[in-house]
Amino acid sequence: MRAMVLHIPGQPLQCEERPIPSPGPQQLLIKVLACGVCRTDLHLVDGELPQAQLPRVPGHEIVGQVTAVGSEVEPGWVGRRVGVPWLGWTCGECAFCRSGRENLCDQARFTGCHLDGGYAEYTVADARYCLPLPDALSATQAAPLLCAGLIGFRALQMAGNARHLGLYGFGAAAHLAIQVAVGRGQQVYAFTRPDDHVGQDYARSLGATWAGPSDEAPPHALDASLIFAPVGSLVPLALSVTVKGGCVICAGIHMSDIPAFPYRLLWGERSLRSVANLTREDGTAFFAQVQHTPVHCDVTCFALDEANQALARLRDGRCKGAIVLTP
Ligand SMILES: [Zn+2]
Ligand SMILES: [Zn+2]
Repeated sequence: MRAMVLHIPGQPLQCEERPIPSPGPQQLLIKVLACGVCRTDLHLVDGELPQAQLPRVPGHEIVGQVTAVGSEVEPGWVGRRVGVPWLGWTCGECAFCRSGRENLCDQARFTGCHLDGGYAEYTVADARYCLPLPDALSATQAAPLLCAGLIGFRALQMAGNARHLGLYGFGAAAHLAIQVAVGRGQQVYAFTRPDDHVGQDYARSLGATWAGPSDEAPPHALDASLIFAPVGSLVPLALSVTVKGGCVICAGIHMSDIPAFPYRLLWGERSLRSVANLTREDGTAFFAQVQHTPVHCDVTCFALDEANQALARLRDGRCKGAIVLTP
């Protein structure tokens, strides 16, 4: 099979011929139909994920067809279409795992980080962490939901029933989260880079009440904000337009340093927290929600061997919606 492999951070991925992997006892062998390109893949390529083990095949938004199973897996999996998300394995025994917070497991292994991912024609994944997908979704539509969709959903759940909701950074995650939020009747305020008028128009077209540059005050104070852009200076900006008792949620795995800010921005029981990874329960809840409130994913497709171009496109930040590789 062909696979795109990261050997050295900062270097392009290399296209390699590899043997098709054999599934371990608990694993599925999956023929990849589509794999989303996530900002986390850029952080991996840039050497910003210290836990990553190289060489590695990136990609943790995988949709594929099961073609074989390991010795301890039900043979009924063969032929099914599954999603493989970021959370690839957890210990199942630690205090986090036993309290419904497997996303925080210290021994967790993440797809495309500790485990080879979906920038390849085939991959293997632990059956217990794979998600069955609704038939109605095409592979390219479903792939970005597996991280961008799920992380946005987990962040939205943390924001509770915020009536006025801010979204900072209008990429793949925000373009899905806004559809869920608008479907729930929330008012969404979208913040983009100052000169990104295309992004602001795009946010309005998806139902944003208001869209503008991130350093501008929205027309209404926010009950909660989700920050998807990896830019620490957005944190004090978001806090400064949040109501007392409101919250600011950082949804990325990596963020530049947060500048010092006056305590009064946090005072008034405002809270600041991060979203880390996801649980299998998030996956089940999100795909159940998508059956009721369908979300449309705007997708730009690249061939597998164009993965470096796809990453460059994501980096320049001018892509509407999500980017997907199709082997
Ligand atoms: Zn654990
Ligand atoms: Zn991701």
